[in-house]
Amino acid sequence: MSLPPVASITVDLDSAYQYRHIHGLPQVGRGDDTPLTLGVERLLDLFAAHAIPATLFVVGADSQRPAHRALLERAHARGHELANHTFHHRYDLRSRPRAERAADITAGELLISEITGSSPLGFRTPGYNIDEALLADLSERGYLYDSSVLPAPPYWLAKAAVMSWRSVTGSPSGSSTTPARNLLSPLEAYRADPSALWREDPAGSAMWQVPMCVIPGARVPVIGTSLHLLGAKGFDAAMPALARAYPRLLQIAFHAIDFVDSTDPGLEDLVARQPDLAVPWETKRSLYDRVFQAIRRRYRFSTLADAVRSLGPPRRA
Ligand SMILES: [Zn+2]
Repeated sequence: MSLPPVASITVDLDSAYQYRHIHGLPQVGRGDDTPLTLGVERLLDLFAAHAIPATLFVVGADSQRPAHRALLERAHARGHELANHTFHHRYDLRSRPRAERAADITAGELLISEITGSSPLGFRTPGYNIDEALLADLSERGYLYDSSVLPAPPYWLAKAAVMSWRSVTGSPSGSSTTPARNLLSPLEAYRADPSALWREDPAGSAMWQVPMCVIPGARVPVIGTSLHLLGAKGFDAAMPALARAYPRLLQIAFHAIDFVDSTDPGLEDLVARQPDLAVPWETKRSLYDRVFQAIRRRYRFSTLADAVRSLGPPRRA
């Protein structure tokens, strides 16, 4: 009997600081951060209850406080993967000079290797904003995979509209538009052509790309925030189509903010901009319980690095 296909739950550990930045809100200092303390505690408990080895994409600059770091140490000790979400979480990282990109990636790697004893195997760029230059940086460094592509035209159009509106109204967003051609990528994990990352590498030897999950056809992203719109019944209904689109590897991406709500401390100023914060944690938790149970009926859970390894080793020239 063959093993079931693999599912990976990934969580980007973006702090409240990052959300204030993207929404252009004033910062309130960089103390202990509720998504990175309470949020990470809750997700570790939830993953323990479901026996899920997850992948946490760590932002270096947000992870230096002792309380944040202690939780990352706990995550590592429990078998979760720590992967690189850069040090500074710059949405325009791909457009920065090469040396600056390298410094940011290196600083993120160092912080993770201090905790785990080894360099991270996976990378996710802020804001799904990847291009071939950034991918080449990662490939040279020997990364096993990148997971940054969001092949969702509705999301891309909405983001482009908000960003052009904000620049017209004189309050430019802290975000940065992603290359439109990435929308053409395959849905499931693939080896990305180094000269055109949205298509398969003809030589079949390049680094893996693991795109964000979307519902095939409509290409609506299936990520933590959109799960609240889909609901448990909607997810169950989408599951057969997801299983067909992701026969080998299903990856669902969350953010740390998906594990907190507006009654948790220090998030009052964000509620108007992040409506999903109004959903109580208990409601979210029972939704995630249902979603993880539905996934487990068809898949086995593993970290994203282990999932990608199960697809085949990268064959480097
Ligand atoms: Zn992020």
